[in-house]
Amino acid sequence: MSLYRDDGIVLRTHKLGEADRIVTVLTRRMGKIRAVAKGVRRTTSRFGGRLEPFTHVDLQFHTGRTLDMVTQAETIRSYGEPLVSDYPRYTAGTAMLETADRLVMGEKEPALRQFLLLVGGLRTLGSGEHEARLVLDAYFLRSLAVAGYAPALEACARCKAVSVRAFAIVAGGVVCGNCRPAGAAVPEGETLALMVALLKGDWPAADASVARHRAECSGLVAAYLQWHLEHGIRSLRHVEREQPSERPPARPTPFRRHPAPDPA
Ligand SMILES: [Zn+2]
Repeated sequence: MSLYRDDGIVLRTHKLGEADRIVTVLTRRMGKIRAVAKGVRRTTSRFGGRLEPFTHVDLQFHTGRTLDMVTQAETIRSYGEPLVSDYPRYTAGTAMLETADRLVMGEKEPALRQFLLLVGGLRTLGSGEHEARLVLDAYFLRSLAVAGYAPALEACARCKAVSVRAFAIVAGGVVCGNCRPAGAAVPEGETLALMVALLKGDWPAADASVARHRAECSGLVAAYLQWHLEHGIRSLRHVEREQPSERPPARPTPFRRHPAPDPA
């Protein structure tokens, strides 16, 4: 059995038994860690309040056979405090934690850039310097980019033509008139410029945008994120289904050439 330390942001917690919790933390060095915090729900707990979502904590872990155990926790900064009195900021922060949890899929696989993006996003959100929705959209675009899903924004996602007409999620971003699939959205040019500014962290340009373009940007970014998360989750379910403890998947029937006979 060994001890190790790392610091990270608590993404979520859930109850375990009478008094314990399992905490999910995105750490600086080791990526995502799920660990047991013993007795954390008792009022006498040494570190109960330090293991709440949004808290940046310095942790000591004890390696366990299945899950590791939290043995020490010191608060570095509580990013939740400036958010609790401001509902739009709080919900934006919650969406950031959920997105980090879902985009960093493996446990104990270093994800330093995702960790730094989350810390930076929560800090900016709490500072109140920029509109919550802009901070959230910037975080979504940049965390998607770090995960390898950056949308094409300045040239056609399919043929690289620079004259773009539409935004198509399935194509991976903006597309030209020739590559445009049916049903692609046709955002205003200023909306695409806002997405570029958020992805690059150009805050003067983003802050100068108007409500109409911010709303259109949020809609596109949310749909793009959702599409990639569902994609990821589908593949994760597939992996889980193949574990021997699970029921085997239904047998595919690729060779059936005729419709099944009518039971009546
Ligand atoms: Zn094209």
